[in-house]
Amino acid sequence: MINVTQEAWETMVAHAEKTFPNECCGAMVGRIDGDQKQVTLAVPMENSYTGAQGARYELRPEDLLAADKAARERQMDLIGIYHSHPDCDAYFSKTDLQNSCPWYSFVVLSIQKGEFHHANCFLPNFDQTEAPKEELIY
Ligand SMILES: [Zn+2]
Repeated sequence: MINVTQEAWETMVAHAEKTFPNECCGAMVGRIDGDQKQVTLAVPMENSYTGAQGARYELRPEDLLAADKAARERQMDLIGIYHSHPDCDAYFSKTDLQNSCPWYSFVVLSIQKGEFHHANCFLPNFDQTEAPKEELIY
């Protein structure tokens, strides 16, 4: 189960709406206690994909490493990655699965006509062959 605090959630939604019609991406930082994860901080990152960003995002590995380091320094964990799907449902695409990491939670925000519509969270398996839904509370 992943619980996103109001402040972190507002950061994610504002980021996703601002970058519309392009995809946004960022990191989710907080604390992990067993299978309970609490996201207290969202860190917006730049979509570094060089093609059309309306249906694709790419994170710079160094941005992610920096977020991981900053989280550890504050005794926190890098819990996962969020990104948006402009005018598209919040599903986990084949590309999303291929580019995922089994140890992170992936939140997808559906932005319809520039406004937040719904969201889902996915937890890829170790082989990255499927990503079952993880309960998301915000
Ligand atoms: Zn996606």
